[in-house]
Amino acid sequence: MPQPIPLGATPLAKLKGHLVTINDAHCHFFSEGFFGALARERAGSSTPDSVEAITGSLKWEAPGNLTTLADRWVAELNKHGVNRAALIASVPGDEDSVASAVAKYPDRFVGLFMLNPQQPDAADRCTRALTELGLHGLCIFPAMHRFALDSQQAARIFELAAIHNAKSVFVHCGMLSVGIRKKLGLPSRFDIRLGDPLALIPIASTYPDLTFVIPHFAAGFTREGLMAASLCPNIVFDTSSSNGWIKYHPGLTLTDVFRQALSILGPSQLMFGTDSSFFPRGWQRPIFEQQCAILRELGVEGDTQREIFSGTFERIYGA
Ligand SMILES: [Zn+2]
Repeated sequence: MPQPIPLGATPLAKLKGHLVTINDAHCHFFSEGFFGALARERAGSSTPDSVEAITGSLKWEAPGNLTTLADRWVAELNKHGVNRAALIASVPGDEDSVASAVAKYPDRFVGLFMLNPQQPDAADRCTRALTELGLHGLCIFPAMHRFALDSQQAARIFELAAIHNAKSVFVHCGMLSVGIRKKLGLPSRFDIRLGDPLALIPIASTYPDLTFVIPHFAAGFTREGLMAASLCPNIVFDTSSSNGWIKYHPGLTLTDVFRQALSILGPSQLMFGTDSSFFPRGWQRPIFEQQCAILRELGVEGDTQREIFSGTFERIYGA
């Protein structure tokens, strides 16, 4: 019988009668800075809308200041029995927001930041975030920012990630659609050809001590993602989001994807995530419940379950 994991005072979630720690590898920290950047992008040379006007038009809660938002997230994690969450500063330049949340709650949050390697200050920002700000890892979006993973700019960033001992480098691969950009009428000139996991193989092989996280099972480039992660044990999938990309594969289900990933990679290369972002929706419990149901169906329990929901996360980010 798998034993419940002793957790002291940390929150617990119950899975199939056993207590399992839940860490969420993929949440977005939609700060005032994040909304402000989108407002400025939308306004162009005109006066941007206020953060409240933007969130009001989306029928979302305004995030409030950084303390308010960090407190809101902790209350949300407590409500659902989630132990820790990786928070992503979701627009380049917003790394201070997540840094302040991590500084306030270092036991609950891991800090990640979006970086566009093509911006002139990318190297400086990357270094500062990983050193001075104490963030854990960076997130790059080749399709969104239209750069090749084997470009010189990207190479510089991987080198800096290694030099400064980043705990993870998140690389978005496969299908990409950003709901909030659509809702705000912002253009999404994404080139998803650039998010091919095969391009990550030489990079992950060059930096065997860096962990590369590909979200959403590589979002449709799953065959390539599985090849890459098979060849490179330092590539990990996160399971986050509703995984809507599945519709592009006739007949495929998320259960099939979990079964395949578990049989090829095993649980040490899988890490639970939800892709939660805005309030009042908050932490996406339905995603968690869907994945629990799938793992139950596959008969996954004990150590395998523990590895997916918390073990891989703790190996990458520390216990
Ligand atoms: Zn996401």
